Formats: sequence, C-alpha cells, structure tokens
Amino acid sequence: MLKLAIYGKGGIGKSTMTSNLAAAFAYLGKKVIQIGCDPKADSTLNLLGGELLEPVMNYLREHDDDPQAIEEISRVGYGGVLCIETGGPTPGLGCAGRGIIATFDLLEDMGLFEQYEPDVVLYDVLGDVVCGGFAAPIREGYAAQVLIVTSGEKMALYAANNINTAVKNFADRSYAKVKGIILNRRNVPGEEEKVRAFAAERGLAIVGDIPRSDDINRFEEEGKTVVEGNPELPISQVFIQLAQTLWKDKDTAI
Ligand code: SF4
Repeated sequence: MLKLAIYGKGGIGKSTMTSNLAAAFAYLGKKVIQIGCDPKADSTLNLLGGELLEPVMNYLREHDDDPQAIEEISRVGYGGVLCIETGGPTPGLGCAGRGIIATFDLLEDMGLFEQYEPDVVLYDVLGDVVCGGFAAPIREGYAAQVLIVTSGEKMALYAANNINTAVKNFADRSYAKVKGIILNRRNVPGEEEKVRAFAAERGLAIVGDIPRSDDINRFEEEGKTVVEGNPELPISQVFIQLAQTLWKDKDTAI
C-alpha cells in the first residue's frame, strides 16, 4: 500500500494536487482513498462533481452515536476514489488537530483499511501549522511518505521548511519520510531557481513539476480534476506520470 501525506501552505494548491493525483492513480486502475485533513473540508470537491462532503467532525457533532458504516461518512467519487473529510471544530472553538486525531481513531476502529483494502491512501494536510494534530498523519504511522507542495513564493517556502523540519523532528519515532517536493508553479520571478536551491539545501528531490494551467481552473469550475476532464491533455499526463513514478518507487527506501 502506498500511503502519502501531501502537505503545503493553505492556498498553494494542495487539494488540486491531491485530487488530481488520486484521479491519476484511479485512472491507472488503483484503488484509492483520499482523506482531506483540512478544516475547510474541500479536498475532495473535484472528485465529487463539485459537491461538498459532510465532514466526519460534523457528523460526530450532529449525531449522538458514532457512525455504524463507512458509507455514512464517505462518498465514492471519480474512478471509485473513496472520499473522506475530517473537517474541523466549530469555528472559534476547539482544536482542529484533535479533530483529525479523533477521525483517524474512528476510521481505525471501523476497520476502514481492512474493509476497503486500498492500493493508495492520500492525506491532504494543511501545512501552515504543524502542531501535534496536523502532524498526526506523519506521527502515528498513517502516512509513510510526505510530499511537500510549494511554489517559489516566500510564504510557501517558509511553510515547506516548517513541514520538512517537523517530519525530521519525528524521524526517530515516525514511519514517515519526506519523499520530495512538488513544485506547483505560480510563475513568480526566479521560481525554479528558488525552489531548486531550497530543495538542494535540504537534500530533497523535486519529484513533481506542475506547470500553471488554465485547464485546471476550467475543469475545477465543472467540479472535476483534469484527469477526469480529459486524460489526454498535457497537464493530465503530468499527473498520470507522477502517479506512475510514485507507484513504481513505492517500496524504494527514501
Ligand atoms: S494549533 Fe494545533 S493544537 Fe493548537 S488549537 Fe490549532 S490545531 Fe489544535
């Protein structure tokens, strides 16, 4: 099983990257679960035709009893991808990180992985805060590999650095390692040089290089990933090739 956590600054395009990767793995015939771990709960939007999924935290707030079946807190999207959103606390109250941990515990108790037997699990995680809660996917053995999404923008690289440091801090007791960087191009001046220098200084590989593409926005307007919209497009092929590489490397030590 390939277990990937995709971290990045809010607004950097993590959910676009994650849902397109999920769609690409599904296109390659893999059984995929995508778990959005961002209080915004819109990670899986483009796998579900633009419809928001009820987050697990909302379910737990609104029902007296825990769900009895995975179907109550998930939906199947494009290519059979099983979509789940952790969601967050009531705005202004509570701890989003604890919500992630509570959701993971619940999914484990419900036997999600044994029941569904996925080939690929993708966690889409906000990287602005790398507190204990948001680090749950890398701390508790849920994800084995971390991909950091960044552009050449200063704040995106700042968040990327924090994420890399957090994974290293947990290195002795964590199963997760940073697999590398996905450069999500914003076309800022000197972008490639900046991201290459950042990666080289930290001994990280750039595993994905995603060009800016109007096709991404065009299909997102329709609630679709580009892979679903038209897998033949050059931008879709970039995601499909990245998925192929990640799958091929899945058992290679980082
Ligand atoms: S920073 Fe982390 S631990 Fe603190 S309240 Fe927010 S989510 Fe919870």
